[in-house]
Amino acid sequence: LAKKLVGTEKNIWVDISKMAVAHNATNLGQGFPDFMAPGHVVESLKEVVADQSPSLHQYARSAGLPRLVQAISKLYAPQLGRVPNPLTEILVNVGAYGSLYCTIQGLINPGDEVIIIEPFFDCYQPMVKVAGGVPVFVPLRPTKEGTVTSSADWKLDPAELASKFNSKTKLIIFNTPNNPLGKVFNLEEMTEIAELCKKHDVVCISDEVYEWMTYDNNKHIKIASLPGMWERTVTVGSAGKTFSVTGWKLGWCVGPEALISCAQVVHQNCIYTSPTPLQEAVARGLELEISRLGKPESYLTSLAEELLPKRDNLAKQLVDAGLKPVIPEGGYFMMADYTNIEVDLPDTDEAKDLRFVQWLIENKKLAVIPPSAFYSDEHKHLGENFIRFCFIKVS
Ligand code: PMP
Ligand code: GLN
Repeated sequence: LAKKLVGTEKNIWVDISKMAVAHNATNLGQGFPDFMAPGHVVESLKEVVADQSPSLHQYARSAGLPRLVQAISKLYAPQLGRVPNPLTEILVNVGAYGSLYCTIQGLINPGDEVIIIEPFFDCYQPMVKVAGGVPVFVPLRPTKEGTVTSSADWKLDPAELASKFNSKTKLIIFNTPNNPLGKVFNLEEMTEIAELCKKHDVVCISDEVYEWMTYDNNKHIKIASLPGMWERTVTVGSAGKTFSVTGWKLGWCVGPEALISCAQVVHQNCIYTSPTPLQEAVARGLELEISRLGKPESYLTSLAEELLPKRDNLAKQLVDAGLKPVIPEGGYFMMADYTNIEVDLPDTDEAKDLRFVQWLIENKKLAVIPPSAFYSDEHKHLGENFIRFCFIKVS
C-alpha cells in the first residue's frame, strides 16, 4: 500500500454493510432509499438508453454534458443570487464523492490546514490526508439534555471555532444539512463561519447533498450566497440524493472559475468524464423539476414531506425503546443516545458505540452506524454514546 494511504484502510460503510449481510440484519445503516426514484427521471433514462443518437452513448464533454451544466446553473441561480456560468463554474463528477475528492486534491498543498466540523461525513478526513493536508477538528457540542432534543441544540463554540483559523488554514469543509446529525445551519451560524473565511482568506467547501431535505420550516441556505462568499466557496451537490438514485453516482460542484478549474485539473486526469446517459437523464429530470418548483407536483419539495412522518415515526419508536433521539432538522439520518440500554459489551479497545453496534447486529439483527466514525481520535468520545439510524427506509 502506498505510504500516503496508510491510516485510511478502514471504512465504516464497507465494514457495517458486510456485517449486516453476514447476520442477515435489517440495514438502517448506510443511507439510501429503498423505494423507486421519481417516475419521470427513470423514464428519462429509459428514453435516453433507447435513443439511437450516437452522442448520447459516447463520451460527454469532460467538465459535464452541456445540457446538464445548464440545468444545474438554472436550478441554483435563485438560491445563489447569481447565474453560475455553466461552462466555467460547474463541474460534473462521479457523485459528491468525486466532487469532494477533486476539489480537495485540486486545492491542497502539503501542510495546508483544513478545518473539519465534527461530526463529519467520514470521507473528508482521508481525502484531506491523502492530499497532504492537515485536518483540524472543531466539534459541534450538545447544549441540552433530555429524552428528545434537536440537532439545533448542537452548536459550535464561536471562540473555539475562531481559534482553529490561522495563516496555514486553506480550507474549511462545511456540511448542511449535516450528516450524521441532521443539523441545518442557520444564517447567524453561517455568517460566523463566512466572516472567519473572509478574515483569514480561507476557501469553503460546502457539502449540500441533502439540500432538498429540511423539516419544520428550517430553510436550507447556500453559504455561497452570503456577501463575499461566492468567490471562495465550492458548493457540492448530488443527483443521487436529489432524485433518490444513489446508485447513479452523479454529482457536481459549483463555484468561481478560479476554484472549479483546479478541481477540473484533477478530474480530467483521473475520471475525465461521467456517464453520458445518466447526465442526460438527470438534465431532463432537473429541467422538469425547475418548471415544477413551488408547485404541488415538485419532487424536490415533496421528498421532505414524505420523509417527515418517517422521521417522527422512528423518533417515537426509539423513545419507546428507551433511546434518546436527537431530532434532525434535515437529511435522512437520526442520532440517538443508546446508553439507557443495558448491555454487557466486550472489553476491547474499540470505541464503545462500535461494540454496541456489533452487539445490535449480532443479537437484534439491526444494523446502524457508530458515530465515532465521524469524529477525530481526539473527539471520538463525543460520539460514543450515540448510534446513527437512516430513516428514509423506515415506513
Ligand atoms: N456528502 C455527504 C454528506 C453524504 O452523506 C454523501 C453520501 N451520499 C456524500 C457526500 C456522497 O454522495 P454521492 O453518493 O453523490 O457520492
Ligand atoms: N451518505 C450515505 C450515508 O451516510 C452513504 C455513505 C456511503 O455510501 N459511503 O449513509
